[in-house]
Amino acid sequence: MTYYVVLVLISLAVSTQSLPPRIIASKESICYPFSFVSREEWNARPPKSISTQNLPVPLVVIHHTYIPRACYSQSECSRSMRAMQDTHMITNGWADIGYNFAVGSDGVVYEGRGWNRVGAHAVGYNVNSVGIVLIGDWVSAVPPKHQLDAVKDLINVGIELGYISLDYKLIGHRQVGATECPGEALFNEINKWDRFTHAL
Ligand SMILES: [Zn+2]
Repeated sequence: MTYYVVLVLISLAVSTQSLPPRIIASKESICYPFSFVSREEWNARPPKSISTQNLPVPLVVIHHTYIPRACYSQSECSRSMRAMQDTHMITNGWADIGYNFAVGSDGVVYEGRGWNRVGAHAVGYNVNSVGIVLIGDWVSAVPPKHQLDAVKDLINVGIELGYISLDYKLIGHRQVGATECPGEALFNEINKWDRFTHAL
């Protein structure tokens, strides 16, 4: 735990030197280069338990929700976050909402389990990965550009702050599970992104 805290502090110290001035990291609150809604702000339930992630993670797994469908405002997306958390905790019996982060079609990043907790989003790959879900059904439609840009910015900040490895691999959920997630259209989109990896 001490090692982890020191690591984070070092990461923050190093990253603030190399970051553009618009990103300012402090202990609990990080000023992100995108709109960010914390758990408190979307009125999350507290987790039933917590597993601490090993950082930095070498893998980014992209998802879509399919349901809930796309949301376009903070109130609508916050409602989607609460609905997913209820399903994951009550119906599925998980410790918390499964994803580490979610991004809405409002271009806003919503905090799920966050950076330093193991998620529940890709069986067998939750440890050592960050799970980012794009809220919506992206089977035939590509998410709006600002939603995609927010995901890319989130990944870049994760690298800058030392939560994601510099040489990370990016994959879609379907590459490690029997699912169509993250949807055909979104999967074709992320195929074009930096660090996308066809085979692990
Ligand atoms: Zn998925």
